[in-house]
Amino acid sequence: MTKTDTIAELNLDVERLRKDFPILQTKVYGKPLVYFDNAATTQKPLPVLQALEQYYTIYNSNVHRGVHYLSQQATEAYEAARRKIAGFIHAAHEHEIIFTKGTTNSINLVAYSFGRKFIGKGDEVLISAMEHHSNIVPWQLICEEKGATLKVIPINEKGALKMDEFDKLLTEKVKIVAVTYVSNSLGTVNPVEEIIAKAHALDIPVLLDAAQAIQHMPLNVQELDADFIAFSGHKMYGPTGIGILYGKEKWLNAMPPFEGGGDMIKNVTFAKTTYNELPFKFEAGTPDISGAIALGAAVDYIQQTGIHAIQHTEEELIAYAYERLSAVPSLRFIGDAARRAGAISFLVGNIHPFDLGELLDKYSIAVRTGHHCTQPLMEIFNIPGTVRASFSFYNTKAEVDELIKGIEKARRILE
Ligand code: PMP
Repeated sequence: MTKTDTIAELNLDVERLRKDFPILQTKVYGKPLVYFDNAATTQKPLPVLQALEQYYTIYNSNVHRGVHYLSQQATEAYEAARRKIAGFIHAAHEHEIIFTKGTTNSINLVAYSFGRKFIGKGDEVLISAMEHHSNIVPWQLICEEKGATLKVIPINEKGALKMDEFDKLLTEKVKIVAVTYVSNSLGTVNPVEEIIAKAHALDIPVLLDAAQAIQHMPLNVQELDADFIAFSGHKMYGPTGIGILYGKEKWLNAMPPFEGGGDMIKNVTFAKTTYNELPFKFEAGTPDISGAIALGAAVDYIQQTGIHAIQHTEEELIAYAYERLSAVPSLRFIGDAARRAGAISFLVGNIHPFDLGELLDKYSIAVRTGHHCTQPLMEIFNIPGTVRASFSFYNTKAEVDELIKGIEKARRILE
């Protein structure tokens, strides 16, 4: 929040903004859609849809290759999107922004490229117990290949990291710490500033999975000082198939390419290939041009709406949802950390989360049920999964009321 932000400026005109999202006018089973599955993917506003259409109807062309007019237009729009993203997260350099397919692809890039060069036999990679599978499996693969060990920061019963255990696990054997900023299953916001400061004191780099942070709170990579940050376009009002890896210049320059092919080379002979400079070294082949440009439009949309206002509006909504859900008999929260964002997970009595999700769907309420790609976390809580309601600034208190009514009806049927 800047000094000039007033509470009035932080309160969004949600009804007006909802009109920007055509899908929010949809009816499901004849009733207005209540969309509480925003952590899986957010809906897309008109400027994002228009950016996609304009690219394909007006200047569809490949980037970085042609000298012709359309190719120059496409290249300029693609690079303008990179500039927008760099500005949004306050990167020191545009070339620290790598276009990828999404968070999963970004983490795999770091695991393989950083791992190939900097992880060896007997080394350790430190993750947390609340990681998404995409911040577990790539590290398992590289650890197995290199003879390294994956270590896990445990959590307490509220779903917060045990920081005293982190202190003990953080030794010189650790070559990288990879943790989520915000848990997709629990909504926990992790103390990433503390994690980064402590890791850096031992010269250990930190990767943040920001898939569930980037759309909910301001993120300043220079202030945070994280070495790598991964996020997905489709969870921040952009299209699927596009995402970002932010990496500090010094690391990206020190790492070998991830994939080989066109665009990532400077010069190719059969004897030896030299690689292109950043960011192209990590962008082999024709990228998702329309996706990148539309992600730029999504960033513009977030900036115009105001990320501080989005955060404020969502925090109010989540507080309201939390209060209303607390009053539902036999409902228990899974994850109850002091700092949270985005999502609330819960179970009701002995009702299987899948059954509750199915009934809510019949009341036109979309929630996610299951393990949320965090199976080890569900095992810690000793549950098959949860019901997760995840929020965007475009959700309303009236929709939360619908959710409560739906849960009450489901309770009467299922309990
Ligand atoms: N990390 C977290 C915390 C997530 O919530 C998700 C998506 N559910 C991912 C990683 C993977 O993102 P994607 O499928 O877009 O690559």
